[in-house]
Amino acid sequence: MILTTNTTIAIQCSQCGELEFHALSLFAFSRQGRKNLHCGCGRQLLSVTSRNRRQFNITYDCAYCGETHYLRLNHHAIWGKEALPLACPDVGASVGYIGPKQKVTQACRNREKSIGELAVELGYEEEFENPEVMLWVLDHLHRLARQGDLGCACGNHELTFELLPDRIELYCECCEAVGVIYADSSDNVRQIEGISSIYLEENKTWLINNPLRGQHISRTIEEEKKWR
Ligand SMILES: [Zn+2]
Ligand SMILES: [Zn+2]
Ligand SMILES: [Zn+2]
Repeated sequence: MILTTNTTIAIQCSQCGELEFHALSLFAFSRQGRKNLHCGCGRQLLSVTSRNRRQFNITYDCAYCGETHYLRLNHHAIWGKEALPLACPDVGASVGYIGPKQKVTQACRNREKSIGELAVELGYEEEFENPEVMLWVLDHLHRLARQGDLGCACGNHELTFELLPDRIELYCECCEAVGVIYADSSDNVRQIEGISSIYLEENKTWLINNPLRGQHISRTIEEEKKWR
């Protein structure tokens, strides 16, 4: 069996947003049972503690939700063959990875940022009236976009998103189509949950989940399906 003693940690700084790479040697734990990693900006990124070099406790400041997350791993996992995600349970995305350098680099490259993650990263979260609902709706839209289920009836699939405190406006730059999705109450989550595709109506403004136009929503979605 080959014993690997070096592992790579990539983690996004919760203060400056940089993706920082650090090497972590198993030998770092031979004397003191703790290793703290810092960002170039001075912020502590992550700390690893171990009493026996078998079990390791990792704590890291999350760039997404601002909380500190904990992870308990054995040394086979940290100095193993795979890149393990340092996840944010709230946002459902990873702020970094631990593992062999090559795997970690690749995982970072593949890390596709969702619109919700970007919004948090750019500090928009505080602008939203209901950040939780807004991020949920953004994630849902991102999923639709990835599956090719978001676009405009004119044929354009690259809609522009405008984030406002209580709603998201979708614009088609090829025609005049506009879609408005309210995202400030939990009712909005229920409304959007069931929508599996959104195609704006060419040159029209569509209030996608205006509660007063509930029937309009379902009818339009049915029509969208026919068009596709
Ligand atoms: Zn930093
Ligand atoms: Zn988090
Ligand atoms: Zn269009």
